[in-house]
Amino acid sequence: MDIPSIKAQLTLADVLHYYGLKPDKNLRLHCPFHDDKTPSLQVYYKTHTAYCFSSNCPTHGKSLDVIDFIMHMDKSSKHEAILKAQSLLTGTAPKPLLPLTKAAILTKMFTYFKNAVHNSAPAKAYLESRKLDYAKLDVGYNSGQFHHGTRKDEALIKSCLEVGLLLPSGANTRSGEPGYKPFGKNGIVFPLKDAQHQISGLYFRSTINDSDQRHFYLKDRKGLYPSYPEPETEILILTESIIDAASLHQQGEMSGTYAVLALYGTNGMTQEHLSAIESLPRLKEAVFFLNGDEPGREAVKKHSHTLQGVLPQLALSQIPTPEGEDVNSLLQGHQAAVLLHLIEKKQLLFQLNLQLKNFQLKTLLISRLLSNR
Ligand SMILES: [Zn+2]
Repeated sequence: MDIPSIKAQLTLADVLHYYGLKPDKNLRLHCPFHDDKTPSLQVYYKTHTAYCFSSNCPTHGKSLDVIDFIMHMDKSSKHEAILKAQSLLTGTAPKPLLPLTKAAILTKMFTYFKNAVHNSAPAKAYLESRKLDYAKLDVGYNSGQFHHGTRKDEALIKSCLEVGLLLPSGANTRSGEPGYKPFGKNGIVFPLKDAQHQISGLYFRSTINDSDQRHFYLKDRKGLYPSYPEPETEILILTESIIDAASLHQQGEMSGTYAVLALYGTNGMTQEHLSAIESLPRLKEAVFFLNGDEPGREAVKKHSHTLQGVLPQLALSQIPTPEGEDVNSLLQGHQAAVLLHLIEKKQLLFQLNLQLKNFQLKTLLISRLLSNR
């Protein structure tokens, strides 16, 4: 079949339908050939052509016929596109691979990172230094190599650019292709999950930098660690970091009684945390197990007031973390049992405040009585 007879028979509507693309009422599409924020691709059903108005587009300036369209969609040669067009006409074209959802991309990549731990000496050394048990935890390692060499795969690169696991480096590789910079390179990776227990975000802790730049969240941070607490949860322990939560989470003996949830740092009690906590039907108590330092104690005050505001009946307590320690440093320096002992020593927060207030009131009354005398 020659090109004119293909073009005479194959409609653009058929091609768009095959790729699952639907133009809006102005016959415009989010262009599939470049990262398109507004629909820039105009569809012309009369001429069976399409045109992208964005100057960022590799097709810009060229009217695309059905064969060009297939060629760009499949990143194939013109000859392959002609064969594909014929198979569309005869109804023998294979089903196209639909774009993966964000959850599917993150799940696939996390599985890859998780498998990488076993082959990576630096990852294992880092996890062992933090007393984190990678046999028990869902944890991965990003060596930053996933888009290189034999693993190079255009669809994978596109997916990773979309979710932020790859960033354009701005420079070209030696072979002249655009270069990419992996996000969270040399980082230990933890999955953040949504209410349906799907991976909706990733957190990276650098294994090579212990100063300023250590914590990396994938763009559009969503999800909670280790997961949304189960509806049966009665007592919820809140930690300051993901590694602190992992340190507690791997203590299997605790899981029956307590659920653990990581905040994202001292300022990291987000609306997603609050909504998840509010929706727990059996929750009786929230326990703060934050760092034994001034920012940690300030965060307990701030977040306990927030929680009291939304859940006035909820008991609130804190664990007396020794000065200069955090959950993970305690685990590094002691037997794991120390964490359980400390949890048993939790102190009710507002009861403490109440006792303090009563005491202040009494002193006030006594001093008034004394001065009235
Ligand atoms: Zn375009």
